[in-house]
Amino acid sequence: MADNVIDLSAERLRRKDHMVRGTAADGMIRAIAITARDTVQKAHKNHNTSPLVSAALGRLMMAGQMMGAMFKHPDELITLEMRGDGPVGGITVTANNRGQVKGSANHPNVWLPLNELGKLDVGAGIGRGTLSVVRDIPGSVPYSSQTELVTGEVGDDLAAYFSLSDQIPTSVGVGVLVDTDTSIRQAGGFILQLMPDYEYYLIDELEHNLQGITSVTNMLEDGMDPNAILRHLLRGLDYQELEVMPAEFHCGCNKERAGRAVLALGEAELRDMVDKGETAEVHCHFCGTTHYLAPDELRELLDHATDGAKG
Ligand SMILES: [Zn+2]
Repeated sequence: MADNVIDLSAERLRRKDHMVRGTAADGMIRAIAITARDTVQKAHKNHNTSPLVSAALGRLMMAGQMMGAMFKHPDELITLEMRGDGPVGGITVTANNRGQVKGSANHPNVWLPLNELGKLDVGAGIGRGTLSVVRDIPGSVPYSSQTELVTGEVGDDLAAYFSLSDQIPTSVGVGVLVDTDTSIRQAGGFILQLMPDYEYYLIDELEHNLQGITSVTNMLEDGMDPNAILRHLLRGLDYQELEVMPAEFHCGCNKERAGRAVLALGEAELRDMVDKGETAEVHCHFCGTTHYLAPDELRELLDHATDGAKG
């Protein structure tokens, strides 16, 4: 696209939750940043999360969205799971390559005192434990790896994952600012990564640039969008924006999938429900939707399933 043509679809995306992918230092740095207030607000509403869990879940969801957006395969899925001995127990998120993410927490209503920095104590909420990353490309065996949590604050844990598992020097920042009424005021993040052929001076340059950064949410409060955040983080390094991408909370559950889950109850159980005229309820723990399957729908499901088994 010529420089003098304004990309209207990109400008539309910039008004909502979105990500920006960019590059710097002659391609030796790749970068992505996100703003995702509505995405995290939706998770907060779906799960009725406390501020601490909104922050924990929101940070991991945004990390998932950014990591998913870095994949080349359009149907690849990434699942990030943090499991710890803190009161939150565990959080799980799944994201695709199109900025869609869903997530849930084992204990969504955990309240703890603020930490010594006066911030939501996500690290204490998660505790000590592991981060597991599962990459699922259709048609191949899922690739999974596990690292120990460093602080449980999400950003540090992912940076450690990248350097241990992928041997790539990476800086990850993710932040959620919760308002006094527990709604989400700001949510955003960035990932900066050195490519395999990087030159060593870039480590110092990046460290220098990152030193003055207080937090992602401060940058958002200052009115910066993902492109401005990357421009700021990569100042002096010839930053270039490559692509604007959408970002949203999206579950993807529906009645058909709920039906498949119901079938797992087994034929005898379902026949019994049909005979008694009972409606099956399938609750999706990612988005909080309850799918109802009436007796005649259950009968149809059973007929199809047994047909399939015969055929
Ligand atoms: Zn759902």
